[in-house]
Amino acid sequence: MTDTDVLIIGAGLAGVTAAREISSAGHDVLVLEARDRLGGRCYTDQRFGVNLELGGNWLHWVQPHVWAEVARYGLRADRGPKSEETFWLANDEVRTGTLDGFMDLIDSGMQRLVGASAAIMPRPDTVETGEDWREADTITLQEALDSLDLDDSERQANEAAWVGHCNGPLDQVGFGAAIRWTAATGGLWQLMHSASAVYRLPEGNDQLVKAIAGDIDGDIQLNTQVTSVRHDSTGATVATAHGGEIRAKKVISTIPINILHELDIQPAISPIKQEISQEGAASQGLKLWIRVKGPIKPFFAYSSQSHPLSVVRTEFVRDDDAVLVAFGADSTRLDVDDVEAVGEALKTWRDDLEVLEVAAHKWMEDPLAKSTWLIQRPGQYTRGQAELQHPEGSLHFASSDIANIWAGFFDGAIESALRTARTVKEELES
Ligand SMILES: Cc1cc2nc3c(=O)[nH]c(=O)nc-3n(C[C@H](O)[C@H](O)[C@H](O)COP(=O)(O)OP(=O)(O)OC[C@H]3O[C@@H](n4cnc5c(N)ncnc54)[C@H](O)[C@@H]3O)c2cc1C
Repeated sequence: MTDTDVLIIGAGLAGVTAAREISSAGHDVLVLEARDRLGGRCYTDQRFGVNLELGGNWLHWVQPHVWAEVARYGLRADRGPKSEETFWLANDEVRTGTLDGFMDLIDSGMQRLVGASAAIMPRPDTVETGEDWREADTITLQEALDSLDLDDSERQANEAAWVGHCNGPLDQVGFGAAIRWTAATGGLWQLMHSASAVYRLPEGNDQLVKAIAGDIDGDIQLNTQVTSVRHDSTGATVATAHGGEIRAKKVISTIPINILHELDIQPAISPIKQEISQEGAASQGLKLWIRVKGPIKPFFAYSSQSHPLSVVRTEFVRDDDAVLVAFGADSTRLDVDDVEAVGEALKTWRDDLEVLEVAAHKWMEDPLAKSTWLIQRPGQYTRGQAELQHPEGSLHFASSDIANIWAGFFDGAIESALRTARTVKEELES
């Protein structure tokens, strides 16, 4: 007996997008989500009087899949306040200047590091790569930066900018991650920077998830964790933590790559999928919101990968207070609930900030994620990208973590879901 045509594991952006696409073609879909909410790593909370994005934050019109959804649902995008002061470290001493001054400082290093990205990866929209790419994918971002032989202040500034992007220690990050991001913006590092960290949906990113979910003609069951998948070429049986079993012609797993190996799947997923899932991504950091006493001027601050907070900036500025967003390369290095420890971490740059409140989701400890945004280790793409996208029997995969262009972004979740949904529809209709 078949209970549904397609069962989708997870109601993050990939899950709801796949469900919308497949149900709109007239097939039955059922989405099972372990959490009590939609969105997964897209997680808007109402805190500090604003829509606080505990997960993914920014999006941009150079991200074609997510921007199409912004247009489709008429969502409004804006940007945070422009920095009026920028702090960074040179030889571990605090320097103050403008954001443009900081960008000028890193420009030469950035050009030398990723200026050739579009030539190295001319088609970031496909899994096909050439020799130059495969070579770049063998080394770490730290090795690539070290090979530039920058002077100390340029080196520290460039490292700080990259650690903000990568959310992990640069000696674990593949140089390929920097190439992929910049190839997605045609080799223009400033555009890559703006695409990944400026524009936002002030009404909350959950509006995007809710809009897509609202167009699903099928059921979404929250609080329903999938515990096992038994699949063959004719279909699959999915068991849930409630003890139920559901039979589907096709299953799409959208669970994050870092926890894929923990799900009981038989026949087992391929050795390469297992291996990459077990290794985990290089990103392993933290994201933290900090409400400080105002008034203060909007600012941007960069330190280094060895500091508990590598990047901090104002996202909301009001008369009496301001809300800062901060990132660190190692989630274990700072207790994000500890107001005093956070205040201490901010003293890297300035001792005039009074921390009032903090808010964060501990993504690396969250059993349904154990990850932030995907940044691959050296070689993971070359070894596994095509294989991670490859279905096994009637079990298919969709996730931002396995996307082509903007893997690790909202855009990637939608791209991956569109591709997998099309394959599944074709198989159902053949
Ligand atoms: C702190 C942080 C900052 C980020 N910043 C940005 C940003 O600024 N811009 C950007 O574009 N992206 C950003 N991202 C990345 C972006 O949020 C993700 O890439 C994207 O939301 C992933 O979507 P997904 O559907 O592929 O995966 P997920 O959102 O992880 O969805 C997977 C779903 O599967 C569910 N699940 C897991 N296991 C099971 C199970 N066994 N049974 C049932 N359900 C299960 C999970 O609960 C989850 O809801 C950020 C992410 C984080 C964490």
